Amino acid sequence: MSRVAVIRNKTKPSDQDVYTMVKKAVDHLGGIKSIVKEGDKVALKPNVVTGELSGPGVTTDKRVVEALIRLCQEAGAGKILIVEGAGYFTETSKALKLSGYIDLAEKYGAEVVDVDKSPVVKVAVPDALLVNPVEVSEAFMDVDVRINVPVMKTHDQLKVTLGVKNLKGVLPKYMKRNFHKIGVVKGIIDLNKAVPIDLTVLDAIVAMEGLGPSFGPKVELNTVIASKDVYALDRVASRIMGFEAEELDYLVEADNAGVINLSEPVEVVGEPITSYTYKFERAPSGTDFAEGVTVITDGACSACHGTIHSVFYDIEQMKKMGEIRDLVIVVGSNAEVPEGLTSKPLIMGACQAHNAEKGCYVVGCPPNNDHMMKAIREICGIE
Ligand code: SF4
Repeated sequence: MSRVAVIRNKTKPSDQDVYTMVKKAVDHLGGIKSIVKEGDKVALKPNVVTGELSGPGVTTDKRVVEALIRLCQEAGAGKILIVEGAGYFTETSKALKLSGYIDLAEKYGAEVVDVDKSPVVKVAVPDALLVNPVEVSEAFMDVDVRINVPVMKTHDQLKVTLGVKNLKGVLPKYMKRNFHKIGVVKGIIDLNKAVPIDLTVLDAIVAMEGLGPSFGPKVELNTVIASKDVYALDRVASRIMGFEAEELDYLVEADNAGVINLSEPVEVVGEPITSYTYKFERAPSGTDFAEGVTVITDGACSACHGTIHSVFYDIEQMKKMGEIRDLVIVVGSNAEVPEGLTSKPLIMGACQAHNAEKGCYVVGCPPNNDHMMKAIREICGIE
């Protein structure tokens, strides 16, 4: 039976508390020496998403990664890499700098690998559901030990983003985009088949609910969750957030494909799941963004959906929603602009540049709120 360790601090943890929590969690799994041997090359994969929005609940708390670096060094690791490829709308090196990971690496003599500026390698996917082979960071593959360090968040497309989804950061940007086009659920299952992970340590010190993975409110759980089985970790973490496994398409799909067995129990050690009673607010889903607005979305990523939600939130605060009528937004690389529209559509983002002439085009990947607002004002004639 897979084991998941849940460690909760009674209060907001200090730096030393975070180290202790991570160590306790890993000790419940047999200790760091059961994972890292003398001289091993270890890769750590945090979630850095986007530099601009770095911070608690958005990016992995670097103290969790720091604790893992210390533990790996105590176990005699020969070399430590921090490997990440930020969201494909963000420059990874900038995101790593803003989120403090460059300084952290320097402090411990670790090496930072920007997935977008380093070689990739093709890896075969056994019994692939969708993608075979996958192209992933060569540096991430060329190590003895891989440690996944995600942060607990809601997600507009997958409902949650935890360990399984976090691995997407080892894909180069063109593969990430491709995953969104062809189907992210099966894509992440294939990716996790191709890239074995030795340990996942989830930062749930500050998590995110609602408009995840970048814009939602924070939830302070003061918790760290660890497992050698990433799916078991996701099952436990999503329960803590208030989701049933059956609600999460990627768990159901993995179960149907025989990758996991949802009817098998998971052993939870440390804090019991029942002590978490707060139910996370779900991320808004579907295309029902606001009244009077039709969003034609196909192949769009969370960043653009998040921007649309956040723009309409701003318009609501300005008490201008009543002035929005018959607004059509076209978003995502596969989305088509409908024929015969009575008003100009808003064509959103870099992957829709080929349709720029067909409406009011907003640049960016994703476009920023100010540019979106300007276009909406122009289309709807809002002063
Ligand atoms: S414009 Fe938006 S949907 Fe298109 S690639 Fe960029 S973030 Fe994704």
